Amino acid sequence: MEKIYFYNTLTRKKEEFIPIAEGKAGMYTCGPTVYNYAHIGNLRSYFFEDILKRVLLYNGYKVNHIMNITDVGHLISDEDEGEDKMEKGSAREGKSVWEIAEFFTEAFKKDISLLNIIPPTVYCRATDFIQEQIEMVKCLEAKGFTYKITDGIYYDTSKFPDYGKMALLDIEGLKEGQRVEINEEKRNKTDFALWKFSPKDEQRQMEWDTPWGRGFPGWHLECSAMSIKYLGNHFDIHCGGIDHVPIHHTNEIAQAEACTGEKFVNYWLHGEFLIEENGKMSKSKEEFLRLQKLIDKGYSPLEYRYFLLMTHYRKKIKFSYGNLDAARNGYRNLIGRIKEIKADSYAGRIPTGDTEEFETRFRKSVNDDLNVTEGLAICWEVLKDNELSSADKILLINNFDKVLGLGFASIKPEGPAEKIPEEITKLAEQRIQAKAEKKFSEADRLRDEITGRGYKITDDKNGKYTITKNP
Ligand code: AMP
Ligand code: ZN
Repeated sequence: MEKIYFYNTLTRKKEEFIPIAEGKAGMYTCGPTVYNYAHIGNLRSYFFEDILKRVLLYNGYKVNHIMNITDVGHLISDEDEGEDKMEKGSAREGKSVWEIAEFFTEAFKKDISLLNIIPPTVYCRATDFIQEQIEMVKCLEAKGFTYKITDGIYYDTSKFPDYGKMALLDIEGLKEGQRVEINEEKRNKTDFALWKFSPKDEQRQMEWDTPWGRGFPGWHLECSAMSIKYLGNHFDIHCGGIDHVPIHHTNEIAQAEACTGEKFVNYWLHGEFLIEENGKMSKSKEEFLRLQKLIDKGYSPLEYRYFLLMTHYRKKIKFSYGNLDAARNGYRNLIGRIKEIKADSYAGRIPTGDTEEFETRFRKSVNDDLNVTEGLAICWEVLKDNELSSADKILLINNFDKVLGLGFASIKPEGPAEKIPEEITKLAEQRIQAKAEKKFSEADRLRDEITGRGYKITDDKNGKYTITKNP
């Protein structure tokens, strides 16, 4: 297998990816809090994770990808204060929390699919794993990491020596800079809620009984509990947006490692933010840009995907319609070029196999900390190349598209071959591939199938072929 390098937030270095089990990658990505639609910034994070997964698949890994759906316990502030985002969504929409969760989970899946993001192997909802979360609090309690205050059970971060290591948190500095705490009962500024008690005077829609009292889990707990449930105590990759480094992921590590006594995750990858011209995009402020708004304005979801491909995942993107327009032009030119080449490729040459140099360069780029921006540039080089046959070009870019995810395979040719139905041209393409791979009996079978459907393939001695309809 070729080497893959990732920038690991844990070490602040690019490191070679060495999986725990050969040929396999276990990957956990923090999913949406389903109290509202995803904004186009959130979608950038899921897109980056999709590229990561596609690169692993491209390199032949079997990927087990787990994504959580947060449907409880994520409070408005990261300080464990304020309203539960789900209860807030419920009040806003006049529906039950469960209905809200169902509705926005479906909306999320639709957005993901529009952007051609491969769904995870498993989606897991926080509310389906309450028992596992309670067990984790019990485990932390037994090991002396917890304490109880008026509003819940908290994690004592001073008991975990490596607390804040990944985020390079200056714990001493934090203590000195400590102003009036919102919650004065907390022992340390960085302590966080594992289990919050339901308010005495109020019945929550989502609450569960525990040995400590009725309530609901702290937000960070679900990710430690569910990732361990599906991927084991120690797994390969964990990712999310860059904002998760100092609090959410720092707390996930503290919970998991304190409980299991093992290293939690080998590679932590974080995607930079997409920001609007006038600043941060915030879901909780409820004025944000959704994918649907872009669609309503006439942009296609894949144009947005192309826009995201133009910047490396560790760089900020400033969103503006001007920038999106530039991406749209680039995308449309690319598609136009592919249509022409596809039309030409049906009367083209059988691939000559001199595609290796491009293939190697592409793989090297995407394996170098997911440099798909360079990968996209190589795709353009292929399309503009004067030496390669059209059939070679199509083979190459279809292969690149396993990583880019721009849907090249479904682009229809534009030109004389347009009259040949798509399923026939697909079979013809498969036949070229089979020949290139020296699978001659498969190539013969495909020719027979094409003949059986009323079309004829004629090869000439120069390696060209044409498809014609049988009279
Ligand atoms: P949430 O639904 O708020 O839990 O966020 C879902 C994902 O989106 C998380 O991985 C966040 O880190 C990420 N995220 C939030 N805002 C942005 C943004 N403006 N740009 C990129 N990713 C973001
Ligand atoms: Zn998480």
